[in-house]
Amino acid sequence: SDADRAVVELDNVEIVYDDHFLAVQGVSMSVDEGDIVALLGPNGAGKSTILKMISGIGRTERGEVSRGNVFYRGEDVTNFGANEMVDRGITHILEGRRVFEDLTVEENLRCGLYRGGRRFRFDEDDYDIAFDYFPQLKEIMDLKAGYASGGQQQMLVIARALIHRPELLLLDEPSLGLAPKLVQDIFETLVEINEQEDITMIVADQNAKRTLDIADYGYVMENGQIELHDPADQLVQREEIKEFYLGT
Ligand code: ADP
Ligand code: MG
Repeated sequence: SDADRAVVELDNVEIVYDDHFLAVQGVSMSVDEGDIVALLGPNGAGKSTILKMISGIGRTERGEVSRGNVFYRGEDVTNFGANEMVDRGITHILEGRRVFEDLTVEENLRCGLYRGGRRFRFDEDDYDIAFDYFPQLKEIMDLKAGYASGGQQQMLVIARALIHRPELLLLDEPSLGLAPKLVQDIFETLVEINEQEDITMIVADQNAKRTLDIADYGYVMENGQIELHDPADQLVQREEIKEFYLGT
C-alpha cells in the first residue's frame, strides 16, 4: 500500500499485558486514507488488543507495545495515551455498546463532546450528523439508554462517536448479538458514513462475511498474528476464508 496515504501503520508490533502476557506478535498493518479495513479472527486472536493500542486506551489495561512501532499519519504514536489520540481525531467504539444506562439517549449523545478530557460547547447542530445517519434516535431521545434495544444502543454509540467528528473510527464487534437484518442496516450505514464523511474505519468483528462485504481491505488474525491479508474482494475468494469464516 501507498505509505503516503497510510492513516495508521503498525510496524512489527508486539503487545504484552502485565509486562509478560504476549497477546500480539510481529503484526504489521497499514490502513489507507478513506478505507474500511476489516480485522477478523476468532475470539482471543488479538483484534481488540490492536484497536486498543491504536487508540491508546490499552495502557489503562496494563497493555504496552513492547516491540515495534505504531504510526498515525506518519507520527510515531507508539507510547501515546488515549487523550493524545482523541485529540488527533481517533474515536474508539468499544465492544459491548457502552452506553450510560441511566442517562437518556440525548444525554448519551451529548457525552460525545468530550475531547481530551475537556468538554466542548454543545450546539444543537451537533445532533445533525447523528440524525442524518440514525433518524430513529430522534424518536427515543428521552428514553433511558439502558432500556433501548441492542440495535438502538449500537446506533447510539456510533452516533455519539460521529458527534466527535473523528478522522478515524475504530469499531469493536459492532455486529455482536444483533439480528442479521439489523447488522445489514448498520453496516450499510457505516459505508454511507465512510463515503460521505471521509471517515477511515477499522472494524474488528467475528462476522467475517458481513465485514468483508463492506471492507476495502482485510486482515485475518490468529493467535496474535496476521495470518492473511488482502483486498477484501480477494480475501472472500480464498479457500481458507471460505472454509473457516464464511461457512461455504
Ligand atoms: P480478540 O479481540 O481477537 O477476541 P483480544 O485482543 O481481546 O482478542 O485478546 C487477545 C489475548 O489477550 C487473549 O489471550 C486475551 O485473553 C488477552 N487479553 C486481552 N485483554 C487483556 C487484558 N486486559 N489483560 C490481560 N490479557 C488480556
Ligand atoms: Mg475483541
